[in-house]
Amino acid sequence: MDETVSPDLPARLAAIRTRRRFLWTVFATYIPVIWFALKIGGDNLALVVGILWLVMASAGGILVSFALCPRCGDRFHMKGISTSWGGRCVHCKLSLSKEK
Ligand SMILES: [Zn+2]
Repeated sequence: MDETVSPDLPARLAAIRTRRRFLWTVFATYIPVIWFALKIGGDNLALVVGILWLVMASAGGILVSFALCPRCGDRFHMKGISTSWGGRCVHCKLSLSKEK
């Protein structure tokens, strides 16, 4: 495990925050988007939107789960096979918040 601090640490932390924001946005918009698809296009459009949502949720989950910590280089949210989407690295406890 490399304990050196990356000079672009703030930018890399911001990238992790962006990935997390994308994932939570996908999750939060599921019900309203499906409801809207049902209203304007019926079951067929809702099915297409549901499949698209599933693809985006999967991609977001992979992007978040496999994000690398800029300080220790391990996966920020994964330790072994378990995933925690908390605001700290599960290995070195580096915080995603802007203050140290
Ligand atoms: Zn770390």
